[in-house]
Amino acid sequence: KERRLREAEKLASLGTMAAGLIHEIKNPLASISGGVQFLKENLGSSGELGQVLEVISRETERLNRLVTNFLFFARPERGEKERFNLKDLLREILDTNQPLFSQVKMKARVPSVEIEANKEQWRQILENLLINAVEASREVQRSEVEIEVELLDRDYLIKVRDYGSGIKEDIRSRIFEPFFTTKPTGTGLGLAVVYRIVENLKGEVKLFSKEGEGTLFEIKLPR
Ligand code: ADP
Ligand code: MG
Repeated sequence: KERRLREAEKLASLGTMAAGLIHEIKNPLASISGGVQFLKENLGSSGELGQVLEVISRETERLNRLVTNFLFFARPERGEKERFNLKDLLREILDTNQPLFSQVKMKARVPSVEIEANKEQWRQILENLLINAVEASREVQRSEVEIEVELLDRDYLIKVRDYGSGIKEDIRSRIFEPFFTTKPTGTGLGLAVVYRIVENLKGEVKLFSKEGEGTLFEIKLPR
């Protein structure tokens, strides 16, 4: 019992350290991001220079997602509740990921309602699920991604569906593990973060997937 307590304390202080480090990474990253944006606007995006700027901006975005995901993994409980509009949040997510998401047809059924929740946690959940859905759909016939949020009596029900590659039976038990990825440049943190946040909020994650036919993630969060 003693030992388990010490282990828990050790993990908690590691989480605090990681959170601190990541905040320190995010600040310079934001400056780089802003700087590249400025250069793109002023120097244009054509030619070799444009290509280099595009690479920097894409990779900065990736790094930012990596550290943000890691932060939420280390500290899933952080953050306060606030009031925000669900549809506005989705719009923000679609805007930030526009270059990736424009590769598929996106169908959204998300009501324009104010909810009381942690906006950043919701953003992490929706963004990670949508990115995976899009990445699974790019090379298939039906590159269509659907997102739906329903307000039930006691829960919010989030559904993200794609008609992409599907998830092979033999890796299905591993996809929520941190750092598990089947992608050449994947981080394997997306679903681990989704799972941690949902678990922390005492919600539920359900997965329906068939190889070659697509995948549906259903997330239930108590209201
Ligand atoms: P990453 O996207 O960086 O690989 P994730 O934790 O987001 O990490 O996902 C882990 C793995 O789960 C992916 O590498 C992929 O094999 C699988 N996966 C997740 N979502 C989907 C999906 N919608 N369709 C097919 N495979 C998926
Ligand atoms: Mg992912």
